[in-house]
Amino acid sequence: MQPKFFQEFIESLKRFGTIYGPVRRNGVLKYDRVESVDEIELDGERPMIPVKKLFHPMKFNMFQFDKDGFTPDYSSIEKKVIVGVPPCEIHSLLRLDEVFMEQPVDPYYAKQRENSAIIGYSCLPGDDCFCKSTGTDIVEEGFDLFFVNLGEFYLVWVGSSLGHDMVLEREDYFDENVTHEDIEDYIEWRQARDKMFKVSFDFKSMPDIMELSYGSPIWDYFAGKCLSCGQCSMVCPTCNCYTVTDVLDVSSEPEGRRERFWDSCMFVDYSLVAGGHNFRGARADRLKLWYTHKMKAFANEYGKPACIGCGRCVRTCPVDINVLTVAEALTKMEVPAQ
Ligand code: SF4
Ligand code: SF4
Repeated sequence: MQPKFFQEFIESLKRFGTIYGPVRRNGVLKYDRVESVDEIELDGERPMIPVKKLFHPMKFNMFQFDKDGFTPDYSSIEKKVIVGVPPCEIHSLLRLDEVFMEQPVDPYYAKQRENSAIIGYSCLPGDDCFCKSTGTDIVEEGFDLFFVNLGEFYLVWVGSSLGHDMVLEREDYFDENVTHEDIEDYIEWRQARDKMFKVSFDFKSMPDIMELSYGSPIWDYFAGKCLSCGQCSMVCPTCNCYTVTDVLDVSSEPEGRRERFWDSCMFVDYSLVAGGHNFRGARADRLKLWYTHKMKAFANEYGKPACIGCGRCVRTCPVDINVLTVAEALTKMEVPAQ
């Protein structure tokens, strides 16, 4: 497809749902409802809060209840077409599927997935991206359409029957004849992109290193710096912990609602249980849990690490604790200089 047709094609997708994508609101780039397709920002900065928020919202009402029972609240779920999702974040949704779509299925997440189309979009690595090390720099599933920006034209992958229906909306914009030159352009683009990665490390050895590092003083070193602010969990596309709270209205008949919102195992009260016991009261234990889950435990369970190499923890942590600094410290097995 020629780039001049892109906006009009996205406009035509409104038939399939409300368009969402990376747009700037009050100076901040975020995945949000698109008012006008020309405000979608692609080919540059990525939103700090990942696309997971459209499937696993920061906060929502799960159900209303009264003395007769409860009624699920699915009112916030709508048909969406999400434009501009990069490969690593498509992988992150596939990781979240492993968690939320396993029995018992999370009905809220499942309904968001069923009602959302994914229009993937190629990206070029930023300074902190290491998705090549995590094997999430390209994607072969998990999208309806995927646009690769080759400059002169878009190479468009069709990933589902819904994606095929979307193409039929503006069939004349697409040319099915892929020439040898087109393939060469794509290969050149892939090779040039591969050379742009500034950060890489041997992710495959991390499960073993995590196992061997259980008693390492590295955890105490990082615990001395960590603020337990939980920002790393909020920005991580695969973090999925949440908590619930019941909000009661006792003014008349007993009734209320159950709210669900993001939580983080980095918070001190995350593992606090009735009776006052805290299973991870020590900050070092919470850090160890977070990184063990990302780099070892999830891979043991699902065959792939929970880190998709997006670099958000690198850009966000105010005290420079992230996958790269932790992996480097554990690999060298020495406490970094203060
Ligand atoms: S590792 Fe960094 S971002 Fe995460 S809780 Fe600690 S200080 Fe906050
Ligand atoms: S651990 Fe860091 S780099 Fe890995 S997916 Fe989470 S935020 Fe991205």
